[in-house]
Amino acid sequence: MKKIWNVSLNKESVLKEVTLYGWVAKKRNLGGLIFIDLRDRSGIVQIVIRPEDTCYELAESLKNEYVIQVTGKVVERENKNKELVTGEIEILVVSLQILNTSLEIPFQITDETSALEDTRLKYRYLDIRRTPIKEKLILRHKIMQAIRSFLSEHDFIEVETPILCKSTPEGARDYLVPSRVNKGNFYALPQSPQLFKQLLMVGGMERYFKIAKCFRDEDLRADRQPEFTQVDMEMSFVCEEDVMDITEKLIADVFKKVRNIDIELPLLKMKYDDAIKYYGSDKPDLRFEMKIMDVTDVFKKTSLAFIRDGLESGQVVNAIVAKNGASYYSRKEIDKCTLFVKNLKASGLMYLKNEEELTGSIVKNLSAEEKENLCQSLALEKGDVAFLVLGEYKLVKNVLGALRLKVAKDLEMIPSHEYKLLWVTDFPTFEYSEEEGRFVACHHPFTSPKDEDVDKLLKDKEHCYSKAYDIVINGYEAGGGSIRIHNEGIQKKMFEALELTPEDIQNKFGFFVEALKYGTPPHGGLAIGLDRLTMLLSETDNIRDVIAFPKTASASDLMSDCPNTVSKKQLEELGIEIVKKA
Ligand code: ASP
Repeated sequence: MKKIWNVSLNKESVLKEVTLYGWVAKKRNLGGLIFIDLRDRSGIVQIVIRPEDTCYELAESLKNEYVIQVTGKVVERENKNKELVTGEIEILVVSLQILNTSLEIPFQITDETSALEDTRLKYRYLDIRRTPIKEKLILRHKIMQAIRSFLSEHDFIEVETPILCKSTPEGARDYLVPSRVNKGNFYALPQSPQLFKQLLMVGGMERYFKIAKCFRDEDLRADRQPEFTQVDMEMSFVCEEDVMDITEKLIADVFKKVRNIDIELPLLKMKYDDAIKYYGSDKPDLRFEMKIMDVTDVFKKTSLAFIRDGLESGQVVNAIVAKNGASYYSRKEIDKCTLFVKNLKASGLMYLKNEEELTGSIVKNLSAEEKENLCQSLALEKGDVAFLVLGEYKLVKNVLGALRLKVAKDLEMIPSHEYKLLWVTDFPTFEYSEEEGRFVACHHPFTSPKDEDVDKLLKDKEHCYSKAYDIVINGYEAGGGSIRIHNEGIQKKMFEALELTPEDIQNKFGFFVEALKYGTPPHGGLAIGLDRLTMLLSETDNIRDVIAFPKTASASDLMSDCPNTVSKKQLEELGIEIVKKA
């Protein structure tokens, strides 16, 4: 049977007899005529049933969301409906059949809904009938299709990798699966197919991809899910430029095919250190400018004791300028900003407004020369307000990077429907973890250091940089990867740098280190977050909108009520006992 989609019917179909299938979206009785909005995946078409039709009584019994089969004749409408794709025609019924009934639904299947998200998630199958959700799932499908065809055309092979694995080292907490056959032992669900894709390079596949489910047991944030999807890629005999080049072509191709948006290539590349310096973030949103400026020098001879003391201990003063923000930032709004930066551990917020005169928290204590220098360095014009933060370099950048985003939102500076993409490159290899009291890997332990930094792995971790890159879209990290270590000796050094004991290395990665000894080609790759990419392309900021059956912020599925308890027998088979805490 060839399905006739509702929206395929138009004036050219007039006089044709068609059989349609779908759901009753709406029923109206006007002067004896029954009008039904029949909905299928493609959209709505109007069905008309006249009092003389034999199915009239049956039609009267129809309720919303009943599933029906209608055979009828396509006719041109007298009153055209411009809102509907099929608004020029309607179907005069010949026969009607109810394929199934429906209970009264807990919320209406409309584009806009006031239903609570929890209710929508409990009845997700009904929510999917709503156009905004359905369209996002269709868009996601188109993205995946575009990715698959682009990568296949560029010699990538789609290879499946296991879901039951040994714990993978992405740095997050693993989801564990107990083994029945090997009691007391566990599989981990993959945080990513990282080691497998590298092993596929050892296996000579040369170009691999997979649309991979990844699992990370982390506390969830707004744009995170416990299971998410990555477009995972790996290539042999490549350098950083090669991976970035093919990836940006892939992304541009997806934007074009799915949304008909042209992305200008090559993308801008920004070193990590510069991203932090100018935007206070390793995923800068470049849809607006507002760079962070260093004005430490202006305060060299300041009379303000707290700044002088700060500078003497190596602190810096940085600033951002909110163009034309002076009138928005009333005392009350500035207080909100102060609270905002204090929550990010800044000691305080200074500001400088250029209105009729210069006003602000520190103006009284600035000399005429300092004021002039400050205004000049900041290019502070009438109507502008500058926000200044004193503190240790990293903290100041982080605070102003976050404030920059807040100001842009406050002043509505972020253009909608615009995409700004860039690469952030040259990441540090390590970052210091206060929590663990040691250096940990910035990406993962298989990331190759820059050739000139190999010797710094053990000696100068702070200044060791990696062949790693992230692709950033509108302030989101949309993907990231690196050139890998393919030399067993360097890999060992890296593990050593991360303070793994030889037993740890053997236990966790023994099989991998062993593989590196058998002719491993130079290789590298990256993974793109498919959920995020779909969010960006469908212009939603709710990750649950782009996933068919998502989990809530507490990692549960409200529809199937999962996770839940299992039977005693299941636990016994696994040799697991649940200990209830008193
Ligand atoms: N496996 C990495 C991740 O999930 C991506 C990569 O390095 O290819 O973040």
